[in-house]
Amino acid sequence: MSLSQGRTYLAIPGPSVIPDAVLREMHRASPNIYEGELADSMPGLAKDLLYVARAEKSKVAMYICNGHGVWDAALANVLAAGDKVLVLSTGRFGHGWAAAATACGLEVDIIDFGTCSDIDVTKFSEALVADKAHEYKAILATHVDTSSSVRNDMLSLRKALDDAGHPALLLADCVASMGCEEFLFDDWGIDIAVTASQKGLMTPPGLGFVYFSDRAAEQRKKMKHVSRYWDWTERASPEAFYQFFGGTPPVNLIFGLKTALGMIRDEGIEQVWNRHAYLAQAIWAATEQWGAGNSALRLNIQDRSKRSHAVTSMGLGLPYGAQLRKWCETQAGITLGLGIGMSQPDDPEGRGFFRFGHMGHVNAQMIFGLLGTVEAGLSAVGAPHETGGVAAAAKVIAEICPVSNLDAASQSVVDV
Ligand SMILES: *Cc1c(COP(=O)(O)O)cnc(C)c1O
Repeated sequence: MSLSQGRTYLAIPGPSVIPDAVLREMHRASPNIYEGELADSMPGLAKDLLYVARAEKSKVAMYICNGHGVWDAALANVLAAGDKVLVLSTGRFGHGWAAAATACGLEVDIIDFGTCSDIDVTKFSEALVADKAHEYKAILATHVDTSSSVRNDMLSLRKALDDAGHPALLLADCVASMGCEEFLFDDWGIDIAVTASQKGLMTPPGLGFVYFSDRAAEQRKKMKHVSRYWDWTERASPEAFYQFFGGTPPVNLIFGLKTALGMIRDEGIEQVWNRHAYLAQAIWAATEQWGAGNSALRLNIQDRSKRSHAVTSMGLGLPYGAQLRKWCETQAGITLGLGIGMSQPDDPEGRGFFRFGHMGHVNAQMIFGLLGTVEAGLSAVGAPHETGGVAAAAKVIAEICPVSNLDAASQSVVDV
């Protein structure tokens, strides 16, 4: 007997759950792509994108691509073959961006902080001080590494650069964190941030975004050659509509994104960050309870202050990790994320690991569905664990949303 028939939940860290309103808005024929509604909506769309990243003093360029595409786009605008960059890696995605940089002909140094911790800023500072000739033209860091589920303190990287008087540009991969975690592009002195549509931005995969500061724009002007397609100049300051996307626009994705960003604006970006932070606390209450005692379950990131609010990586070992994922999907209709970049000597493919995606269009009842299913699954597959995880999460949510909330005028149900 399987109980999976019904509305499913794709609880992987991207693509995330897409709101029905976004899907509905996308289901339309294309209007005129040269003038009218679509073209008129673009300045508002760019404004909303800048709002989500708190990048109102900066610019954003849009692309038809995924996260891997904007990795290339960012590099192409400010770096030339032979330039040297430093990658601060805290998981699989740090290494991914480093590989993209190497393929572009850049000289890449990597400091690898492993898969269980954040960037050690002291080590980063030492590397900056050691680079007396200022050979590093850019620092590449991942805000939230989706494989390890660590969140890095991007402001501390800016401070380290300033303290060392090092002129390198600071580049942030925000594919997993944008629209989920607090991120202040302007105030934190980020030079370039990249993200994509399919995670916190609640839109199907296919759109990529590159934010850039005035400093990064200055560096772009000094470049001898920049790929015509990746060049952000016209995309960020177009004189004609076709320049936003360097050709035919991704019409239906634009409609979807516009709706998704409108939802974020209506909720308020600070409230969106808080919602993710509070739901993450419920998830940690449950997972820490399951992991207590002689449990097989272990969270990748032990320090709560360094955990992402959008994705949680854990290991159960084999055979339990792989069985749990299969059980949740086939017996209960919820799909958990695979472990990636978690190879172990006795588990080379990291199949004992799994991840929860809790990014974007998620609320308390969905998180309870996730946690309740996983708790049942842990029992069903016989994985050693402590029970009581769901009860621990319920306590957290009851404290976050006390009955006095019912009197507050601002309370609303935001689903559409
Ligand atoms: C998902 C993700 C990417 C890659 O995005 P794709 O759209 O799959 O190319 C890059 N970096 C981070 C941090 C991600 O979470």
